[in-house]
Amino acid sequence: MPFVAAEQPKCPKCGKSVYTAEERIAANAKWHKSCFKCGLCQKLLDSTNVTEHNGEIFCRHCYGRKFGPKGVGFGQGAGTLGMDVGEHLGNRTSEMTNTHHSTNF
Ligand SMILES: [Zn+2]
Ligand SMILES: [Zn+2]
Repeated sequence: MPFVAAEQPKCPKCGKSVYTAEERIAANAKWHKSCFKCGLCQKLLDSTNVTEHNGEIFCRHCYGRKFGPKGVGFGQGAGTLGMDVGEHLGNRTSEMTNTHHSTNF
């Protein structure tokens, strides 16, 4: 049973040891509950609304403003989506469920 006291993780914000009772995990590091704040607006974060970038943490709002919705990818290829999917679905389903063209005449 190894009990290594030297392995105590340090909070990236204040540099002090983080104990399990107060830890928040993000960006491959452990943060104090009170240090777990957005780097821009200083809002307190939790695991549901934290986003990370280069080892820093931000709230979703600031992350979106600073880095964009995803950070990478600008929706290239989205223009082909509508036609492709519509054609496929329309062709298959209407052929099977349409009966009126045979009873019309
Ligand atoms: Zn701290
Ligand atoms: Zn923020």
